[in-house]
Amino acid sequence: MAKLYFSYAAMNAGKSTILLQASHNYRERGMETVLYTSALYAELDKKSISSRIGISAPAELYERDADLYAEISDRLENGPLHCVFVDEAQFLTSDQVWQLARVADRLRIPVMCYGLRTDFQGNLFEGSRQLLAIADVLREVRTICECGSKATMVIRMDEHGNVLTSGDQVSIGREVYVSLCRKHWEEATGRWPKARMDAPKLPFAEETMQKTGADLIEALLDEE
Ligand SMILES: [Zn+2]
Repeated sequence: MAKLYFSYAAMNAGKSTILLQASHNYRERGMETVLYTSALYAELDKKSISSRIGISAPAELYERDADLYAEISDRLENGPLHCVFVDEAQFLTSDQVWQLARVADRLRIPVMCYGLRTDFQGNLFEGSRQLLAIADVLREVRTICECGSKATMVIRMDEHGNVLTSGDQVSIGREVYVSLCRKHWEEATGRWPKARMDAPKLPFAEETMQKTGADLIEALLDEE
């Protein structure tokens, strides 16, 4: 029985790296994979998934109106397909998540989705909501807050390091995202007064990203 997987995390947890590694493992064994990523953030004509540690692979871009079940069915006419990988899965529509469930159930191809669980306001994305509801397997890819606790939330900052608490869920501006634990997220977004001693120092995006290396290895081990 092929399954629909959802690996979710906060920002900068190395989801794309894990996706690329998993696809590589399939291909190394002579199996065919197809990679999808959202057209929303794709740079012009850049049809690929790249990770922060410098690896990348070609990918198909999906638009919100794409029928992924139909696209993948058509692809099968060119030969077998052993796994479908979807990056930025939070941007899938509910319908598209169901299309991917049918790929697993009816075409018997496993589908591995990777994405963010919640947006900068702490709300679920449409794709993540539907995946959390119907995926067969849920996996958390861990990353850590500046304080060392598990980061489950994301803040959006403008280019000056100010934390933004309103705005569109999807934004293609020059914002920076940082992953925090829930406690520090509430403080950073002003929902709770900052503690005197352990207030997060913003911005600390770079510091947070450096720390995720060891955590990524841990996450990769968890995948086994
Ligand atoms: Zn924290």
